[in-house]
Amino acid sequence: MASTNKKHIALISVHGDPAIEIGKEEAGGQNVYVRQVGEALAQQGWQVDMFTRKASPNDPTIVNHALNCRTIRLSAGPEEFVSRDNIFEYLPEFVEQLLKFQRQHNITYSLVHTNYWLSAWVGMQLKKIQGVKQVHTYHSLGAVKYKSVTTVPIIATTRLATEKAVLETADRIVATSPQEEEHMRMLVSQRGKIDVIPCGTDIQRFGGITQEQARTKLGISPESKVVLYVGRFDQRKGIETLVRAVGSSQLRGNPNLKLIIGGGSRPGQSDGMERDRIESIVDELGMRDFTTFPGRLGDPDLPIYYAAADVSVVPSHYEPFGLVTIEAMACGTPVVGSDVGGLQFTVVPEETGLLCPPKDDVAFAEAIDRILTNPEWRNQLGQNARKRVEEMFSWDGVASQLGELYTKFMAQPPKNIRESGSHLTLVG
Ligand code: UDP
Repeated sequence: MASTNKKHIALISVHGDPAIEIGKEEAGGQNVYVRQVGEALAQQGWQVDMFTRKASPNDPTIVNHALNCRTIRLSAGPEEFVSRDNIFEYLPEFVEQLLKFQRQHNITYSLVHTNYWLSAWVGMQLKKIQGVKQVHTYHSLGAVKYKSVTTVPIIATTRLATEKAVLETADRIVATSPQEEEHMRMLVSQRGKIDVIPCGTDIQRFGGITQEQARTKLGISPESKVVLYVGRFDQRKGIETLVRAVGSSQLRGNPNLKLIIGGGSRPGQSDGMERDRIESIVDELGMRDFTTFPGRLGDPDLPIYYAAADVSVVPSHYEPFGLVTIEAMACGTPVVGSDVGGLQFTVVPEETGLLCPPKDDVAFAEAIDRILTNPEWRNQLGQNARKRVEEMFSWDGVASQLGELYTKFMAQPPKNIRESGSHLTLVG
């Protein structure tokens, strides 16, 4: 419900533009999280400015999403795509631009909610300069991620140091699952305050269509056994495990088998390279005739694909939360996921889906087969999945929990801040 006493806050997401198309390279869960949290908070009476780095001269500087919710793109570094591992050097400019924007518009935020370690650094500078309260969500932890990759980027040391510093100095850290909190404590620091507030999903948008209707729309026959992947093309996502599982003898016997790999992709970028690699495995295993790559799935298509599937597979090597999981579950589709991170929180094995050891294509094949060969059980898992999302993972619920957290810090504003119109203005 909208309140008349709006409080002005900033969500900072340097590399994850909340106004951009989702599903392309480097645009995924973080973009969705920031946008959805921003819109839900605005609905609940907050005035929300979301800051990101301008990555194209053609992108408008300000995008209004809803009343009291907008994205502001700041010029920091070249106005072109820069991979997240190369953005750090532009952060001082980002901070300067953010301060300039506040001066020009006569705004002082009482709280910044930062997302990913790059934004954590920005938030820490603002805290030093302005004394602003900082809440932080990691989205991915370097200490976990670097364990599962073969090449560690040069920026790793800076990232790990920033992730430790923000945990120890932010007013509050938001872990999106108990598993993420445990990783922070084990691998980052014992100090600092953490609250677990999960990610959410739009339970109206996901779940509004039956499997039969969805299949009619996509031209998929009722007899088909549809295995679905949705997400970015990134090695960490483990798409290879899924392809090898579906290509195994355990599943290949089924003449109605259909594999859909949705998401991606931009030629020449790392996303495109992973897609090429996956397509070559599909060819090598002779799976072309029953595998499709529909590309990026936009707003209207996503719920249809999830609903059409018999099972949605999330084979990530590491997943801090995994929005795709709860989206599929909200659509009544059970998930077979890797037994890692946030998936251990969202998927309840044998109740809403199944969990397998990451990279274990034999285990994935068995799990997918169990669901495909038992339609009644599949439907029961799907119903339980929908119920779990309704109870635990709606954006409104998530935004309420975040709002309560912010309110705790903002209860006593610093003495030299007074209200001016709908903005808070720093005086003296
Ligand atoms: N997504 C999308 N279209 C696509 C592929 C992905 O809109 O073609 C969205 C997906 O619905 C989800 C997000 O991108 O909301 C991915 O978030 P997740 O947490 O699963 O993974 P991340 O990309 O953050 O690693």
